[in-house]
Amino acid sequence: MSGAPLDVARIRADFPILHQEVRGRPLVYLDSAATTQKPQAVIDALVRYYTHDNANVHRGVHALSERATLAYEGARERVRRFINARETKEIIFVRGCTEAINLVAYTFGRSKVGPGDEVLITAMEHHSDIVPWQMLCQQVGATLKVVPVDERGDLRLDQLDVLLTERTRLLAVTHVSNALGTVNPVRDIIRRAHARGVPVLVDGAQAPAHFRVDVQALDCDFYALSGHKMFGPTGIGVLYGKAAVLESMPPWQGGGDMILSVTMEKTVYNRLPYRLEAGTPDISGAIGLAAAMDYIDSVGLDAISAHDQALLEYGARALESVPGLRLMSQARERSGVLSFIMEDVHAHDVGTILDREGVAIRAGHHCAQPLLSCFGVAATVRASLAMYNTREDIDALVRGLHKVREVFA
Ligand code: PMP
Repeated sequence: MSGAPLDVARIRADFPILHQEVRGRPLVYLDSAATTQKPQAVIDALVRYYTHDNANVHRGVHALSERATLAYEGARERVRRFINARETKEIIFVRGCTEAINLVAYTFGRSKVGPGDEVLITAMEHHSDIVPWQMLCQQVGATLKVVPVDERGDLRLDQLDVLLTERTRLLAVTHVSNALGTVNPVRDIIRRAHARGVPVLVDGAQAPAHFRVDVQALDCDFYALSGHKMFGPTGIGVLYGKAAVLESMPPWQGGGDMILSVTMEKTVYNRLPYRLEAGTPDISGAIGLAAAMDYIDSVGLDAISAHDQALLEYGARALESVPGLRLMSQARERSGVLSFIMEDVHAHDVGTILDREGVAIRAGHHCAQPLLSCFGVAATVRASLAMYNTREDIDALVRGLHKVREVFA
């Protein structure tokens, strides 16, 4: 199907949850930046695994354990292919972006960042790409530096070369802002950081549901993914790391699977990727994530990107018809998110009224309080899109917003 326009009706048929009424209205789901819905293929993969193959991985000699191991390691290869990593040992399964970033902050961070060093992040990071670095800096006596954001919602990249110093040990930047939808020019940012010898972590939570991510083309040192934001299950995510960088990091959690041998005197650690995956992993989650990647590729990311962009533009124009509504972001490149405020109406009231119309959006700070405070607001309304959304969904949102205006007239 790749190359052809998106057949949204067919895609919607693959997502059973979308076909329900909420508060007596057909559900309009516009909260995919918080979590995406799951296609039947992902749900089936989970049911199939638990119905036929469930066993623990890597240890068993019996048939079910062999099947579970093959499926789990097959999922790792599927992820490698999806993001074009060089080797499967560069794919570490974790719970999600939050755990991926914490892993890097604990292992890479605690071994490579010391007193007087600097960690550079940006003003548009999600809390999960701020707090782990704050904790690290506080613990080791390092300083957290921040690339500011301009009033349009773009990073102030003119500041980057000043903020990258000989003390910078890591730059962490989001690929797409979950609060504004800004797509950052991460390839260029990485090139500039590498020119100063600084490794880069990219928070990819909001990217792979919308466009192709190629970690070799980006040349990032780390890339963090959450399965549930790309049509996969909750509880599974990925830390990609360049093999040489991962090899240089001490283990994080200790336990089963991350060891080759243990005596009371000494533990010999396992090789990658197992060294960074202590304990029984989320086997079904990894299998479900692989099914989600199969699903995305069967639809085709080029078609998905074109659909999402067209819908975003349609949405931005449609929102202009609502009196007193201000779109937050005018960033050069945007993806998936319409974030706005309404004059004299609190975002939560907008959310409550829209919910009565069956329209699911998010109201609040979107775990990006520092970013919102740059814009002088405490909360926004966020409608976020995915491949199953239609112009009718946007129209329902706009009708709901006109009702909000009537209520608060
Ligand atoms: N980064 C960004 C940009 C996000 O949008 C999110 C989730 N909203 C996260 C990180 C954290 O992801 P998770 O909660 O799946 O760990």
